[in-house]
Amino acid sequence: MIPAAPDATELIARARKLLAEHSPATTSRIDFLRARFDAGLAWVHYPVGLGGLGAPRALQAVVDAELTAAGAPDNDPRRIGIGLGMAAPTVLAYGSEDVKARFLRPLWTGEEVWCQLFSEPGAGSDLAALGTRAVRDEQSGDWIVDGQKVWTSSAHTARWAILIARTDPDLPKHRGITYFVCDMTDPGVEVRPLRQITGEAEFNEVFLTGVRIPDAHRLGEVGDGWRVAQTTLMNERVSIGGGRLPREGGMIGKAAATWRERPELRTHDLHQRLLDLWVDAEVARLTGERLRQQLVAGQPGPEGSAMKLGFARLNQLISGLEVELLGEEGLLYSDWTMVRPELVDFTGRDAGYRYLRAKGNSIEGGTTEVLLNIVAERVLGLPAEPRNDKDVPWKELAR
Ligand SMILES: Cc1cc2nc3c(=O)[nH]c(=O)nc-3n(C[C@H](O)[C@H](O)[C@H](O)COP(=O)(O)OP(=O)(O)OC[C@H]3O[C@@H](n4cnc5c(N)ncnc54)[C@H](O)[C@@H]3O)c2cc1C
Repeated sequence: MIPAAPDATELIARARKLLAEHSPATTSRIDFLRARFDAGLAWVHYPVGLGGLGAPRALQAVVDAELTAAGAPDNDPRRIGIGLGMAAPTVLAYGSEDVKARFLRPLWTGEEVWCQLFSEPGAGSDLAALGTRAVRDEQSGDWIVDGQKVWTSSAHTARWAILIARTDPDLPKHRGITYFVCDMTDPGVEVRPLRQITGEAEFNEVFLTGVRIPDAHRLGEVGDGWRVAQTTLMNERVSIGGGRLPREGGMIGKAAATWRERPELRTHDLHQRLLDLWVDAEVARLTGERLRQQLVAGQPGPEGSAMKLGFARLNQLISGLEVELLGEEGLLYSDWTMVRPELVDFTGRDAGYRYLRAKGNSIEGGTTEVLLNIVAERVLGLPAEPRNDKDVPWKELAR
C-alpha cells in the first residue's frame, strides 16, 4: 500500500525533528541543507529520496515558515535560480532515476550551480532554429557537441548546464533537437564574459568544441528536445516573473523608500504616478500569488508568460520613475568597474543600476513581443502567426 502523503501537522513534526537533530546554531550551513534534503523537506512535493515526501506543493510554505522561524539557513535561491527554477523540474520530468539521484541534491543545496545553454547568435526568440550540433559517436554511444551559445547567465560559476542541440538537420527545426546535461568543466567548454549595459558581466558567450556528453546525460528521447525544452521555458517564465514578494517588495519598495526618505524631491505629478505604480505592483504581486496557487494543482502553463510580461513592464516603469524622482542624482552611476557577479540582482545597488538592469527584464526568459504572441495564441486562442518553416528540413532553412 502506498503511504498517504503527509499533511501539515506531520510536516511540522518532521521539521521540528530536523531542527532538533541538526540545530542551526551548531550545524554548518551545508550540513543543515543536506540533512534537510535527506529529510524530504527541501521541496516537499518531490518524490521520497529526491528531497521530497510526495506532499502537496502548497505545504512547502508551512515547512519554510517553521524552519525560517528557527533561524535555519536557506539555500540562497537567487544564486542558484536557474538550477532551482529551470533545471530541476526538467530533470525531474525527463531524467532517468540515476540522473535524478545524481543531480537534484547538490543542485538544491547550492553545491552545484547550473546555467542554461539555449540561446545562440542566430537563435534567440526563434530558439528552434539553433545550430549547435550533437553527433553520436557510434562506438562509445556518447554525443559530441560543437557550436556556440550566447547570453549564458552564470556560466562562469556553473558546474552543469542544460543544453539543447541539433541531432538531426534533415528534420524540420522543432523535431531534430535533443536535450542534454552538459558538464561545464569539460575541456571543450570555453566561457568568455559579455559585458552588459550595467557594466558588469553576469552573462557570457560559451564556445563548445568537441564536448563529449554521455548518452546517460540525455533528458528525454532523441529528437524530442523541443518538448523537453517547453518544460524548462514554462518554468523559466514563472521563476523569472513569479518570485514570492512581501508587500512593497521588489522595485516598488526601493522607489517608495526614496519617496519617504526624500520629501524635497516630491511633486504632485510624481506622487500620482508612484501611487498608480504602487497599485499595479500590488495587483501583480497578488496575481502572482494566485498563479502560484494554481500551480499547486499542475504544471505551469502559458499563463506564466503573462506574469513575466507584467513583471518586465512594471520593473521598467518603476525604475524609470525612481531615476526621474532623483533628478540629476538619478543619472549618476556609482561604479563602472567590471564585475563578475555570482547572482542576478534585480533590486541591488543604486537607482541607475536598477534602471539599466530592468532593460534586460523584457528580453531575458523570452522577449515581450514573443511572450505577447504566446499569450495571444495559447491563452486567448487567437490566430497564430504565419509560419512557413514548419515542415521544411532545418538544413534547408535560410540562415
Ligand atoms: C539578462 C539576460 C540574461 C539571459 N540569460 C540567458 C541564459 O542564461 N541562457 C540562455 O540561453 N539565454 C539567455 N538570454 C537570452 C534571451 O533569452 C534572448 O536574448 C531572447 O530570447 C531574445 O533573443 P535574441 O537576443 O536573439 O533576440 P531576437 O530573437 O533576435 O529578437 C530581436 C527582436 O525581435 C523581436 N522578435 C523576434 N521574433 C519575433 C516575433 N515572432 N514576433 C514579434 N517580435 C519578434 C524580439 O522581441 C526582439 O525585440 C538572456 C538574455 C538577457 C538579456
